[in-house]
Amino acid sequence: MPTEEKFDAIVVGAGPAGSAAACTMARAGLSVVLIERGEYPGAKNVMGGVMYGRMLADVIPTFPADAPIERVIVEERVWITTADSAVTVGHKTAAAPSGIPNAFTVLRAKFDRWFASKAEEAGALLVPATVVEDVIIRDGKVVGVRTGRADGDLYADVVVLCDGVHSFLVKKAGLQSREIEPHEVALAVKEIIALSPEVIQERFNVGEGQGVTLELYGDVTQGMGGYGFIYTNRESLSVGVGALLSHLMRTKITPYALLEHVKQHPLVQPLIAGGQVVEYLAHAIPEGGYKAMPRLYGDGVLVAGDAAMMVNGVHREGSNLAMTAGR
Ligand SMILES: Cc1cc2nc3c(=O)[nH]c(=O)nc-3n(C[C@H](O)[C@H](O)[C@H](O)COP(=O)(O)OP(=O)(O)OC[C@H]3O[C@@H](n4cnc5c(N)ncnc54)[C@H](O)[C@@H]3O)c2cc1C
Repeated sequence: MPTEEKFDAIVVGAGPAGSAAACTMARAGLSVVLIERGEYPGAKNVMGGVMYGRMLADVIPTFPADAPIERVIVEERVWITTADSAVTVGHKTAAAPSGIPNAFTVLRAKFDRWFASKAEEAGALLVPATVVEDVIIRDGKVVGVRTGRADGDLYADVVVLCDGVHSFLVKKAGLQSREIEPHEVALAVKEIIALSPEVIQERFNVGEGQGVTLELYGDVTQGMGGYGFIYTNRESLSVGVGALLSHLMRTKITPYALLEHVKQHPLVQPLIAGGQVVEYLAHAIPEGGYKAMPRLYGDGVLVAGDAAMMVNGVHREGSNLAMTAGR
């Protein structure tokens, strides 16, 4: 038998869960390979995206120095909408954002690349553009993964599955046997709308580097469970909406039409006017909660993040729980 390439740990997926796991294990002196199907980490990833500082600081305490933060959040707004009005509540702070920011926006294509580079700095081997197609099981124990590359079998004492929502590897590893049901997953769509920093600051009434989150409930989701959002980036807005898949199936409203409905709201229009759509993205969010989670471990295998249904949709806590679970 040819010599097997063996590591202490294989991590599948370089999203927030995977990079946190790889970083933590590499720092502890383990040999770690981090496998990502995208051309680079973040190439295929979608998120609103607001992150919380404490969870990231638990993995990278010095992150404010060089993380690709778009804007530090100084105001959180919630609108409960009718067709042409909204009840608004929110929180605003005048505290100067120093040290670890409470919350901030990121663009995942930049953030994931940076986060994975931290795992590499810690000693993990990043292997991008490589799909893990299966787990290798011997005598009931997961001992490695099969990738799409020639001679692509890799072995390790533990395989950590961080491959996101609808993980088929979780099933192959025997951690879950059933399919995720439509009421356990939301479908979210998002546009990145380019606007100049000055226009964003004026429209949202914030200073340079400061940002706002705006979440919209009520009429905007046309009776479905879900919400719309507008998050400020440095020179763009993330504008999106998500609703439970079962509700989209019932109403037969397409996610694209739902997003157009949000954008047409008369209170939203002035915020996005004149902006240019530079990206359109769609992705599922696992929202089945505790009871829908798979088994979190098996012999030689662990699962973290979206692959384990670790999302609290109401608190927009997907990436944060993923980082914490990965760590
Ligand atoms: C529109 C939208 C808005 C959101 N907004 C927020 C927000 O504001 N704040 C927040 O905290 N969360 C938000 N979320 C949720 C958040 O994006 C996820 O919870 C988070 O990305 C989960 O991280 P993860 O590492 O578990 O999975 P992912 O980020 O999905 O990463 C999985 C990685 O695994 C890779 N991969 C998958 N399969 C394979 C394979 N077979 N082989 C190799 N690589 C593989 C993927 O390419 C990907 O890089 C949002 C989600 C959506 C869709």
